[in-house]
Amino acid sequence: MTYIIQGTRDDFEVVIGLEVHAQVTSKAKLFSGAATAFGAEPNTQVSLVDAAMPGMLPTINAECIRQGVRTGLALGAEINKFSVFDRKNYFYADLPQGYQISQFKHPIVGEGTITINKKDGTSKDIDVERIHLEQDAGKSMHDQHPQMTYVDLNRSGVALMEIVSKPDMASPEEAGLYVGKLRTILRYIGSCDGNMEQGSMRADVNVSVRRAGEPLGTRCEIKNVNSIRFVRQAIEIEARRQVDIIEDGGHIDQETRLFDPVKGETRSMRSKEEAHDYRYFPDPDLLPVEFDDDFIAAARESLPELPDAKHHRFVSDFGISDYNAGVLVAEKESSDFFEELIAALVDASGKKASAVAAKAANWVMGDLFGALNKAGKTLSDCPVSPAQGAELLGLIEDGTISGRTAKDVFEIMFETGDSAEKIVEEKGLKQVSDTGAIEKIIDDLLVANPAQVQQYRDGKVKMIGFFVGQVMKATGGQANPAIVNQLLKPKLDG
Ligand code: ADP
Ligand code: MG
Repeated sequence: MTYIIQGTRDDFEVVIGLEVHAQVTSKAKLFSGAATAFGAEPNTQVSLVDAAMPGMLPTINAECIRQGVRTGLALGAEINKFSVFDRKNYFYADLPQGYQISQFKHPIVGEGTITINKKDGTSKDIDVERIHLEQDAGKSMHDQHPQMTYVDLNRSGVALMEIVSKPDMASPEEAGLYVGKLRTILRYIGSCDGNMEQGSMRADVNVSVRRAGEPLGTRCEIKNVNSIRFVRQAIEIEARRQVDIIEDGGHIDQETRLFDPVKGETRSMRSKEEAHDYRYFPDPDLLPVEFDDDFIAAARESLPELPDAKHHRFVSDFGISDYNAGVLVAEKESSDFFEELIAALVDASGKKASAVAAKAANWVMGDLFGALNKAGKTLSDCPVSPAQGAELLGLIEDGTISGRTAKDVFEIMFETGDSAEKIVEEKGLKQVSDTGAIEKIIDDLLVANPAQVQQYRDGKVKMIGFFVGQVMKATGGQANPAIVNQLLKPKLDG
């Protein structure tokens, strides 16, 4: 379905391209040995290189190069064995060098692709134009002193990958999915932790609008959007603003804007007229980066199974739905948990993975995720292990407890970390599957409720539900419903 913005006269489409800055997971900065940990006291992680003391020379951190290459490979992108670091010149208080070291003409990674899976079940390939490596700047703090701005250089020189998409996205949904999928991939391969709330991933969102069939419109770039929800909101609001201007007979100025989520608006930061002339030139302190095929092969070798491959395997080997597979592979932890759960179920039951997977997926996505959500926990601090989950599902499968009882047992497991069997034993929750005992209850019920029996026999077959309910009541909810139904029907039919 196409995303349309309705003007007063015409319908408009939106065109979106994203520049995502992702902090490379590395103990040291791109060109210095200073630490990169989040949350340190201001200016405690600054080397003389990061503070741009005269005469200091940058040294490339090979680990950052390797992570850039791994990221490119994970996006199926072209890897450039020759790339160049350039100086991008501008003046700002939190940039002591007076330039940022980045890559311009010769980035380390060329064109690649990210596939997004949309809610309507379709998927779409979004093309990536390039990935280059660059330094982050420091941080200006305007709220620490009434007259002065303070500068924290901890981030100065931290390695970033800038992942630039083509203008391939056509709705806020697609842009949100793109950022989510990119984050999933980066987390799988460990090249960036993807923590948007800590600033280790942020997006510059380019938005333009046009009437169907028109060439691309003039874009505005919304800087540093730091959550997926804000990416979607910023696009909606910015596209609407542009449509209103065009329909009023105005035209869009290419400019850089800020998104204000509190006011729900985008505001101009600087226009194209004031645009920087960065005077890029190759950094004379750094040689071009060159590596060979072995370096690329080793980087490829180090990649885990990627989310798309895992997704396909979950669907084809486990027979779970496309949607469920998508949810389960979105985080590596949940896909690992699911696979361990399946392995334990297969082990215990001797059944095939495809015979146990659908129920396992429902349990993980329903009960488990629900409980984690409610408790504000993640799978990494989950009190129930995959083996314990398998034991619980096993008890339902062999009829020891009903699905209903299992929910209560799970709640206790989640709280105490006890095993399902122990809880069932201690609380006496075993389902009554003893046909003799159930039969006796049924016989008594039929005698006690002759009117309802007659109604059933007169053709009101739904009355069977009444009797099932009564048996459940008599057994404190512990009768095996399958067996109750099996025994009831012939007796009611007389
Ligand atoms: P710059 O480096 O000046 O920001 P680029 O050509 O690298 O310019 O483009 C930056 C981003 O803008 C890319 O992600 C690209 O996909 C996107 N983009 C380019 N043209 C448009 C457009 N007309 N509408 C929306 N996005 C666009
Ligand atoms: Mg840009």
